[in-house]
Amino acid sequence: MGKLDGSCLCGSVRLVCDAEPLAAANCHCKDCQRQTGSAFSTVVTVPADAVEVRGEVATFTTVGTDTGAKAHRQFCPACGSPVLTLPELTPGLAFIKAGILDDPSIVRPVMEAWTGSAQPWIEPDRQLVCTERGPSEEILAMLAG
Ligand SMILES: [Zn+2]
Ligand SMILES: [Zn+2]
Repeated sequence: MGKLDGSCLCGSVRLVCDAEPLAAANCHCKDCQRQTGSAFSTVVTVPADAVEVRGEVATFTTVGTDTGAKAHRQFCPACGSPVLTLPELTPGLAFIKAGILDDPSIVRPVMEAWTGSAQPWIEPDRQLVCTERGPSEEILAMLAG
């Protein structure tokens, strides 16, 4: 069993991943708020080729507000759980939704993204790297390793 294995709510989509997380972030963008139905999305970044998706997923593609870059958001068509995002802005990287992991307690967010659209009832952790809007060049370079 990989450390970053996970499942959707109904169990028909299974994610298998043995990679070390490259990073983890809380994203407060409006798209993540809508997709998760919550204040932010916590994602774990891994090399895309290190993730195996078992079961059928559906994909909804969003377009970045600032960048115009597409993000392919995969979810379970049976129960609707978001499982994985593949942003074209960061080719070769996959963003696993932390809440689907078998053990989400291992996740350590290092960054708060899109704090400019954070909800007033959630205080982003200012000790972490914070970006008002999308990821900066510096953060993209960090993610790319
Ligand atoms: Zn499901
Ligand atoms: Zn987001």
